[in-house]
Amino acid sequence: MPFADIQGHDRIIEVLHRSLRSGKTAHSYLFEGVPGCGRKKTAQTLIQALFCQVLPDDACGTCPSCRRIDGGNHPDIHLITPLPDKRDISIEQLREMQHILSLRPYEAPRKACIIDPAERMSVSAANSLLKTLEEPPGNALIILLTENAGMLLPTVRSRCQLIRFAPLSPEHVLTLLERNGMAPEAAALIAPMSGGSLQKALEFDNEALGSRREAVLSRVAALSIHQIATVFDAAEELSGNRDATLELLDMLLSFFRDAVHLGAGSGDIVNRSVRSEIEAIAAKRPFPRNLELLERIYETRRAVQRNANPKLALDHLFMTMAGSSR
Ligand SMILES: [Zn+2]
Repeated sequence: MPFADIQGHDRIIEVLHRSLRSGKTAHSYLFEGVPGCGRKKTAQTLIQALFCQVLPDDACGTCPSCRRIDGGNHPDIHLITPLPDKRDISIEQLREMQHILSLRPYEAPRKACIIDPAERMSVSAANSLLKTLEEPPGNALIILLTENAGMLLPTVRSRCQLIRFAPLSPEHVLTLLERNGMAPEAAALIAPMSGGSLQKALEFDNEALGSRREAVLSRVAALSIHQIATVFDAAEELSGNRDATLELLDMLLSFFRDAVHLGAGSGDIVNRSVRSEIEAIAAKRPFPRNLELLERIYETRRAVQRNANPKLALDHLFMTMAGSSR
């Protein structure tokens, strides 16, 4: 697909587009970001643009070469992932890849290879790649995908052009879910919870998330400093293990972000299907208090990530919420 169809990474697309126009693409790239944020799509589009039979610096999306890449069956593109039942990408896999890259391309101007996830290369595999990254045989293009570049050998990192992908915004995830054919109502529920990953968004259990949201909204609405039980009951019911608590905090973040948007006079919110509940949150306390609470939720999330006790962290957060209500 053309670069213009990639959601949420305009600056990166601009950089890649510019290097294509000037004929100065790197030999080896390292795309870092959360899985499902668009790294692989961007890698494929970059290769499409290099191979496209119609356009010099973009993917037309319709020529035989572009179509084959979209279909995942272009003979000059090689995807290296851990073999089934194996944790790591082995040195044998990389030796085979290096051999394939040294052969003449079948139809494209050069060969290309995507290694995903690059942090799963064994140390010996990664070491065997160093020379290839520096001087890929046959001018091949190598793109490494990783969640965290810090997990790769510095010698690998330094041989690649590092491009950092930010998580997708909830709005971009929403657009992509709807493009995937998801009903707008379901997409609006899931998008704020996706952590910027389309992949994660597509894995959510829609129904379970819907009832969880109802539970969270009603507990938050009931918080009252005059009935302290509302605080501890909410923390008791809504806290869970660390992951469940982080998910809850993501939900609260999306509610309070929306409430702050409403308070600032913008009607454009993500949780559209529960607009009246969000309006109630916005009205429950003065605008500056909602802004402060948003920051408090971020802080709580960071604390839980650093292993703070989920129940205690929520006791504290809900107490602050109750105390700031009108
Ligand atoms: Zn094309």
